[in-house]
Amino acid sequence: MTSFDYDLFVIGGGSGGVRSARVAASLGKKVAIAEEYRYGGTCVIRGCVPKKLFVYASQYHEHFEDAVGFGWSVGETSFDWKKLVAAKDQEIARLEGLYRKGLTGAGAEIFETRAELVDAHTIKLMESGKTVTAKTIMVATGGRPTYGNMPGHELCISSNEAFHLNELPKSIVIIGGGYIAVEFANVFHGLGVETTLLYRGEQILSRFDHDLRDGLADAMRAKGIRILCNGVAVSVSRTETDRREIATKNNGSLSADVVMLAIGRSPNTQGLGLDAAGIAADDQGAIIVDRYSRTNVENIYAIGDVTNRVQLTPVAIHEAMCFIETEYKGRPTSPDYDTIPTAVFSQPEIGTVGLTEQEAGKRFAELEVYRAEFRPLKATLSGRSEKMMMKLLVDAQSRKVVGAHILGHDAGEMAQILGITLKAGCTKDDFDRTMALHPTAAEELVTMYAPSYRLRNGERL
Ligand code: NDP
Repeated sequence: MTSFDYDLFVIGGGSGGVRSARVAASLGKKVAIAEEYRYGGTCVIRGCVPKKLFVYASQYHEHFEDAVGFGWSVGETSFDWKKLVAAKDQEIARLEGLYRKGLTGAGAEIFETRAELVDAHTIKLMESGKTVTAKTIMVATGGRPTYGNMPGHELCISSNEAFHLNELPKSIVIIGGGYIAVEFANVFHGLGVETTLLYRGEQILSRFDHDLRDGLADAMRAKGIRILCNGVAVSVSRTETDRREIATKNNGSLSADVVMLAIGRSPNTQGLGLDAAGIAADDQGAIIVDRYSRTNVENIYAIGDVTNRVQLTPVAIHEAMCFIETEYKGRPTSPDYDTIPTAVFSQPEIGTVGLTEQEAGKRFAELEVYRAEFRPLKATLSGRSEKMMMKLLVDAQSRKVVGAHILGHDAGEMAQILGITLKAGCTKDDFDRTMALHPTAAEELVTMYAPSYRLRNGERL
């Protein structure tokens, strides 16, 4: 029998990789993990966590304004970007430490180096040039921002750099209309930056319910964010004063201190040695896996963004846990991608789970739409002109709630709980017989008794 240096070698220390390594090690397997940058991966180091901290920071100016309506006198306020970045960096360093501690505490060996595949069982540690062997290999190298090939793309930043800008720019143009573009547009605007969003399609957030898309775009515009839809950047150039000029197809020339590209993320497989190991990838470079996250090479798995399935941290972690069940517990388990709740941390926030109205209209012969739009209680005294929108989509035949969409404060928190109800297959009647919790915004979800309208075969009646 061949003997290997490790039972499991994990390449990539992000959410999926760390979870695989930690849990396998805690089961007594001999595990090593290699990471070329920092443990924690995109989510902890330059994604979800620092982003959410920035979102909180950017909300304060509205909090200060709102406080007046509740009797507070707020003195002069000012914002220090460098202080925020330093505080964020400190928290990220703490979290990175916890990730490392979790790994070593479970008995995994940590390498701080890029690692590449030499063959199906051999990994080269690039820092030392040493090679090691493993019975099973997990590739969890994540993704990186896509820059595209527009002339001048090298003059643009991505979300990676947005977390470490030396100075807060006075103005920014963000290209894209997905999660990152929308979240950062709100962050920068909230911190006082003149913000323009340039999006190629009809309306931002193309994969979301139309009420969320329209409601959010209206609210962002009302705050002062410029959103240019059907807008295509053709090139970016540098001016004499080191500003950026963006030539566009339909919107003339735009000018800003910084241009940020948020046009998607690509799998991190370049130079990884996929060919050497015989691993198949698609034309985007994403590793192709089966329902158990196994590649075409029997002993090599891949999870998370490198497989380009659903680019979300909890999904990568879930895939890691399924891998553990499959490989080490003798219970082949495939991830369940149905009804994944998700949030866009925009201002107002989006929380959503299940089908959009358009998708549900196509899937079910008759669809009931329950929709409420109201002014949240807090906005009465604060005087802020904001609305909250909630919508439940119900298959008239089975009575099941097949989509739930919220725009407004704490929408993400609500979507997490709604996710359980959709997963459990709750019907509208279950919602109706649930007692309201007063006074909350969420009570609206159980008090919408009559449909606002219906769709039959996708057509509104
Ligand atoms: P998204 O896929 O969300 O959005 C990409 C955007 O870029 C879309 O608006 C797309 O337009 C546009 N686009 C794509 N290619 C081009 C191009 N060549 N030129 C101009 N525009 C283009 O990607 P993001 O980069 O925003 O985020 C990456 C992933 O990270 C997300 O898919 C999400 O899974 C994850 N994420 C999750 C967050 C959360 O859970 N809150 C937060 C941030 C990221 P179109 O719609 O027309 O295709």
